[in-house]
Amino acid sequence: MALERRTDIGPPDYRNFLPPIIKENYGTWKYHEELRPGVMVHVGESGDKLFTVRAGSPRLMGTKAIRRFADLAEKYCGGYMRFTSRHNAEFLITDEANIDPLIADLAELGHPVGGIGNAISSIVHTQGWVHCHSAATDASGVVKAVMDDLHEYFDGTTPIPGKLRIALACCLNMCGAVHCSDIAILGVHRRPPKVQHQNMKRMCEIPNVVASCPTAAIRPAEVDGHPSVEIDEDLCMFCANCFSVCPALPMADALNDGISIWVGGKVSNARSEPMFSKLAIPFIENNPPRWPEVTEAVRKIVEVWVDGARKYERMGEFIERIGWPRFFELTGIEL
Ligand code: SF4
Ligand code: SF4
Repeated sequence: MALERRTDIGPPDYRNFLPPIIKENYGTWKYHEELRPGVMVHVGESGDKLFTVRAGSPRLMGTKAIRRFADLAEKYCGGYMRFTSRHNAEFLITDEANIDPLIADLAELGHPVGGIGNAISSIVHTQGWVHCHSAATDASGVVKAVMDDLHEYFDGTTPIPGKLRIALACCLNMCGAVHCSDIAILGVHRRPPKVQHQNMKRMCEIPNVVASCPTAAIRPAEVDGHPSVEIDEDLCMFCANCFSVCPALPMADALNDGISIWVGGKVSNARSEPMFSKLAIPFIENNPPRWPEVTEAVRKIVEVWVDGARKYERMGEFIERIGWPRFFELTGIEL
């Protein structure tokens, strides 16, 4: 008997959820443009117009908040909306008259509209203290504090020269896109794991632990009669991979965990090739709940770029043009 070939074994097919206007104009969009902060229009070869309103979201949402978004999508958008990779909520509108009432309703719910074109988009980020075991800092808490501070650059109150993409990852495993963002906030551990020798045999498989280390810093060892491991601290890069497979190697260290700031990365190949972020500030202490030192450092970097960049120039392009020593001089960051 011939087997039926099935290829749709992943999540449901996205085509089931497309608004009719997108189905009708699929692959035949002529151009798009930003109409005002947070609002853009796509125009099809058919002449059809699809308006997008982008709103900031906190990423972690309860069902009540999701239902409120769904209510707005039903009221103004024929029941269609989507989330972007940077956690913005986008409402897709065919009737231009619905734009202003939607923005007013979003404002009432506390969701600012913005983040399109030459603006700061919402910050893509990881789990942090919400639930990751290897976090060196929080994610959502830092992002909330930084975005509150930079709000004027999201909603267009203060125009900026180009796109500014910020990312946060709470350890160097980097679930967030910190290696390629204009400004990256990266949680860093600064001490190797502490080996709990008595627990090692009960909680961990030693060969697995040895194999988990990307720098070969872990060796089997017998300590006080217990089969255990020892760590060559000079080889450890504080990545927490070993802790992921072995709870007897805790990494968290309140005094030595914190945040580093990286700058100048981008994915886009417009004007210049993609760039990796480079380290600007190696360590800032965790200071919840509002992380004032981090928000101040990020704001300073943003302000220097806003003052000095040419139109459309990304952070990395700006720094390469003026030179790294000048960048450090202007931001007041110690080189
Ligand atoms: Fe966990 Fe690291 Fe990913 Fe943060 S970046 S969620 S700490 S693995
Ligand atoms: Fe190896 Fe990373 Fe563990 Fe250090 S933290 S011992 S580098 S796995």
